[in-house]
Amino acid sequence: MKAAVLTDYDPSLSRQQFVLQQEVPDPEITSPSDIVVRIGGAGVCRTDLHIIEGLWRERVSVELPYIMGHENAGWVEAVGGSVESVKVGDPVICHPLLSRGQTLAARRGNDMHAGGAFPGIDSDGGYAELLKTSERAVVKLPQSLAPKDVAPYADAGLTAYHAVKKAAVNLVPGDYAVVIGIGGLGHIGVQVLKALSGAAIIALDRSEMALQLGRESGADHTVRADGTELDQVLALTGGLGAQVVIDFVGEGDSVAKGLKMTRNAGFYYIVGYGGKVEISTMDMIVSEKSIVGNLVGTYPDLVELMALADRGLVKLATREYRLNDANSALHDLHRGQVKGRAVLIP
Ligand code: ZN
Repeated sequence: MKAAVLTDYDPSLSRQQFVLQQEVPDPEITSPSDIVVRIGGAGVCRTDLHIIEGLWRERVSVELPYIMGHENAGWVEAVGGSVESVKVGDPVICHPLLSRGQTLAARRGNDMHAGGAFPGIDSDGGYAELLKTSERAVVKLPQSLAPKDVAPYADAGLTAYHAVKKAAVNLVPGDYAVVIGIGGLGHIGVQVLKALSGAAIIALDRSEMALQLGRESGADHTVRADGTELDQVLALTGGLGAQVVIDFVGEGDSVAKGLKMTRNAGFYYIVGYGGKVEISTMDMIVSEKSIVGNLVGTYPDLVELMALADRGLVKLATREYRLNDANSALHDLHRGQVKGRAVLIP
């Protein structure tokens, strides 16, 4: 099969060719629960840039060359002997983790903490024509949703949904929720907030293109991150800050400012990463703020998100690239030139 293969790390992200187009062996069914999916679309994630930089090298053991791509959807191409829930030809979206079903964490629904493989991160992913996954990971798509249009929900959407679902139980009408970073995840976060809560939504970003996407996604207010964003949010929220801040950036000054935008007894959710949280224990007790980490999402989260998408309550902004143009997609993402999410199509 054809694949875009990562052969070398590039810590400064300066190479023209991050990945190489190569012919590689097709993945094969080796366990009864395996499924091979013919890729309809694979989302291009900022994590892929972090992988190329070598940021994940210490965290996961993966040998180069390997194939990135952890946001995958397509059609079932082949199934192992014990697979019963899908058949060849079914359209599916792939939960990014092949979690171990017998672990207590998996039985409790915490797929992210149940061990197992993470194709595209620690093993071959979907920047290819075919992907090996498992029956536990696939969600059958409703008729209304085409694989290439939904692939980024597998991680970008799922991660946004997981964080917003946690936040929504802490929001009532009259509250404010700030969404920092209106990119591939943030624009889904705004729509899910709209669907799950009655809070007024403030979309915050440096770029006017992103703020426009925030408005199209349903934000009630937009704030340009031009250095005055903290004051602007405080002005909108009567000087108190927002009950919920969801930070899809998580680096630079967004962390310090995001925490300051969070009102006392409010909640700050970290989704984007790369920076550091610094707050004194005294500030923590006086403010009673909660700081919450978020990692991908559960299988039920993905099923629920597909239900929202099926009803048209969440829509993805995507930009399509051919698989053999993967380097353009990665460079465009690196330069901040993708509105919404880039998707590779074999
Ligand atoms: Zn991702």
